[in-house]
Amino acid sequence: MLDQPRIDALRTRPVPPCSHLIGGRPVPASDGGTMPVVSPIDGQILTTLARGTAADMTKAIASARAAFDDRRWCGQPPAARKMVLMKWADLIEANAAELAVLGVRDNGTEIAMAFKAEPGSAAATIRYYAEALDKIYGEIAPTQSDVLGLIHKEPVGVVGAIIPWNFPLMIGAWKLGPALAMGNSVVLKPAETASLALMRMAELALEAGLPPGVLNAVTGEGAIVGAAMGLSMDVDVLAFTGSGGTGRRLLEYAAQSNMKRVYLELGGKSPNIVFADAPDLDEAAKVAAAGIFRNAGQVCVAGSRLLVEASIHDDFVAAVVRATEAMPVGDPLKRDTQIGAVHSERQLAANLGFVETAQAEGGQVVTGGGRILQETGGYYMSPTIVTGVTPQATLAQKEVFGPLLGVTPFESETDAVRIANATVYGLAGAVWTSNLGRAHRMVRAVRTGVMHVNTYGGADGTVPLGGVGQSGNGSDKSLHAIDKYINLKTAWIKLHGGPA
Ligand code: NAD
Repeated sequence: MLDQPRIDALRTRPVPPCSHLIGGRPVPASDGGTMPVVSPIDGQILTTLARGTAADMTKAIASARAAFDDRRWCGQPPAARKMVLMKWADLIEANAAELAVLGVRDNGTEIAMAFKAEPGSAAATIRYYAEALDKIYGEIAPTQSDVLGLIHKEPVGVVGAIIPWNFPLMIGAWKLGPALAMGNSVVLKPAETASLALMRMAELALEAGLPPGVLNAVTGEGAIVGAAMGLSMDVDVLAFTGSGGTGRRLLEYAAQSNMKRVYLELGGKSPNIVFADAPDLDEAAKVAAAGIFRNAGQVCVAGSRLLVEASIHDDFVAAVVRATEAMPVGDPLKRDTQIGAVHSERQLAANLGFVETAQAEGGQVVTGGGRILQETGGYYMSPTIVTGVTPQATLAQKEVFGPLLGVTPFESETDAVRIANATVYGLAGAVWTSNLGRAHRMVRAVRTGVMHVNTYGGADGTVPLGGVGQSGNGSDKSLHAIDKYINLKTAWIKLHGGPA
C-alpha cells in the first residue's frame, strides 16, 4: 500500500500540459486550444488539457483505421499481442503510485480506494484479457456432412471508447482490455475533468510496445470531440460509460451516421434492501454507509436507495447514521479519508439542490445536508441521509451521483420488490436476509445487472457488470465483454468430391 510520505511527495509534483495521443505521438489541438484542469481538492488549476476539435478526432480515427487496415496489431500472433499487454499491465503497476495520486488530484477520489480501484484494478483487467486472448476459439458448426461451417471471431475494426470521470483507469481498462486483446484499434475519449491519469496510462501502452496508431486518445469537450466520434462514419463500435443523457445522444449519433454498435453503461438508483432477519444488522449498517458514501457517492453502482423493513427502521437508520458519522471526510490524499471531494463545483451545487428538493417533498435530513470545508477551496459535502423518502419522490427516482442516501420503509417482501423495481434504472442492488429462499427470490425478482446478497459491492473482474432498463446494455468485465469487440463471420465451405 502507498504510504503517506510518498503520497505527500507526489501531491505537489508539477503536472505538464496534456496533449492528444495520435499516431503514437503527443499532438496539440489543431487550433492550439487548451482548457484548464481544476482540482476538486482545493479548486486550484493543476494544468491544461488540449481542447480537441472535430478535426482532431477525425485525425485520431484515421490513425486507428490505418493501423487496423495494415494489420500491424491484429496481424500479430496472439502470443506477441499477449506479451505487449502483459508488459503494459506491469508498467501500470510499476507506476501505480504516480497514476493514483495524479488521478486523485484530478478527480478527488479518496486515495486508499483510488490506489486499488484505479491502477490496481486496471492492471488486473489488462492482464486478465491478455491471458484470455489465446484461449478464445472459433467454432465448427454442426452442418450437413458435405459442408464445413466455420464461425470466425474477428475484431470489429475501430472502437471508440468514451470514459467518465469517476474511475477513469478502471473503466478505461474495462474497454481497452478486451478491445485491444481481440486485435482492434481504439480511439479513447477521456472525460474532460479526469483525463490526466488515463492519458498517462495510454502512453504506457506505447512504452510496452503497442504499435503507434493502435491506441489514440483525444482530450476535450464531450459535445465537440465526443460528438465527432459518435457521428463518425469510420468508428465501428462505440463503448460508453457515463450518463443517460449522453447515452441517448450517442444512439442518435449512431442513427445519423453509420449505425455503429453502441454499448451503454449508464447510471443507477440501486436499492439496498434490508430485512429484519439480516444475519448481522450492525455489519449491514456499516456496509450500507460505505456502499453509498465511498468516493462521495460518485459510484455508478452506489446503493443510493436504502429500503428497510418497517419493524427495524428506526434502529437500523440510527446505526447507519452512526456508521456514516464515523467516516472521515476531507482531503482525498490523506490515507485515512473515506469520503473525498465532490468532483466539481457544479456537481456539488446539484447535490445540494437534491437535498432541498427532498426536504420540500417531505423528507427529513437526519445527518449531513450541507457543504463543508469551504475554506480549503475544494468541493466537499457532508454525507447526507434523508428519511421518509416515498418511492415516487425525486430522491428515489433520479440519480444524484453524490453523497446522498434516501431511506424508504417497506412492509413485506412483495412491497420491497415493488419499490425496488419502481425506477427506470436497473444497475445494482442488494438484499440482506438469513432466509436462503428469500435471498434467491429477491435476486430473481429485482430488475438489475448485479444483485448482492448480505454484502454490497466488491465484485471482481470474473463477473460481468452491465445494466438493464435505462442503466444500459452490454456488459463490461469477464469473458462476456469480449463479445462487444468481435464480429462473428461464417465460412460456408462446400466439400466437393469424396466417395461415390
Ligand atoms: P457524462 O455522460 O457527462 O460524460 C461521460 C463521457 O461522455 C465524458 O467523457 C464526456 O466528455 C462524454 N460526453 C459528454 N457529452 C457528450 C456528447 N454529446 N457526445 C459524446 N460524448 C459526450 O457522464 P459523467 O458525468 O462523466 O459520469 C457520470 C455518469 O456515469 C453517472 O450517470 C454514472 O452512473 C455513470 N457511470 C456508469 C457506470 C457503469 O458501469 N454503468 C460506471 C461509472 C459511471
